Amino acid sequence: MSKEAIGNLSRTKAIMQKYHLHAKKGFGQNFLTNPAVLNGIVDAAAISAADNVIEIGPGLGALTEKLAQRAGQVLALELDTDLLPVLADVLSDYDNVTVLNQDVLKANLPQLIAEHFADPAKPVKVVANLPYYITSPILMHLLGTPVEWANITVMMQKEVAERLAAQPGTKDYGALTLAIEYKMDAKLAFTVSRRSFVPAPNVDSAIVTLTQRAQPLAVLPSSEKQLFALIKTCFAHRRKSLWNNLKPYFKKDAAKTAAVQQVLADLALDPQIRPERLSLAQFIQLANALQAAGM
Ligand code: SAM
Repeated sequence: MSKEAIGNLSRTKAIMQKYHLHAKKGFGQNFLTNPAVLNGIVDAAAISAADNVIEIGPGLGALTEKLAQRAGQVLALELDTDLLPVLADVLSDYDNVTVLNQDVLKANLPQLIAEHFADPAKPVKVVANLPYYITSPILMHLLGTPVEWANITVMMQKEVAERLAAQPGTKDYGALTLAIEYKMDAKLAFTVSRRSFVPAPNVDSAIVTLTQRAQPLAVLPSSEKQLFALIKTCFAHRRKSLWNNLKPYFKKDAAKTAAVQQVLADLALDPQIRPERLSLAQFIQLANALQAAGM
């Protein structure tokens, strides 16, 4: 008789009972127990046998199992050591899965790809039901890694998903929006009720798919590092004007103050607007102009 899927509520409960497991809040553990959602994630990521997949936080293996059934190879990174023997047991039928005890935020992903995939040249996709307490740091880590992801398909808190595709001038628009827009196109695949998890989180969730930008950027930054430093500085105080947020660039130096004034005038940027009104292209132009002015 074939085994019941790990993500079925009754099997999840049986696994937790067998291993005396309790979901750990500190690790953001909310296990998916809705087979339709699990299949929907694998469909949204368009997983096929031609893909290498990295899964972040396999938990009890519900999503890992679905991925193993469709992907070429799956590399799953789990922080909680207590889950390793569980995963070894429940995934023992799948010879295309490797589970590593690894904090994804500390992972050298290019190295793991080279070491663990039989053919590292195949497309690499990231799929995860993310630990919500570190959604932004994980996305920033993935985007800052020199890997051209075929796609990144992740479940996150619905509110954070709304931030990813936010427009300038809205409350959701911020540094995360710009970091995503710089490299990827974001699409909300579907929303997920809190009732699809054990235990149920306090929020509803959404699946977002990030793919490489279809349109190249019209203006490129002279330095990515300086662009993101500028964005960070500008969103330090959302309610302050662009001018006040830019103060760390000139402090009390009269010559630098005049230079920043000139940069803003040249770009026709009103010093009194809020930084959240600036588009990515305007941030790039501003970063380039500040750098050209020696700042
Ligand atoms: N994939 C499972 C599912 O869908 O049922 C579990 C998802 S649960 C929301 C998040 C998982 O990420 C947990 O298994 C948790 O232990 C793991 N996790 C938390 N922080 C992590 C980190 N820094 N690196 C890797 N895994 C992490």
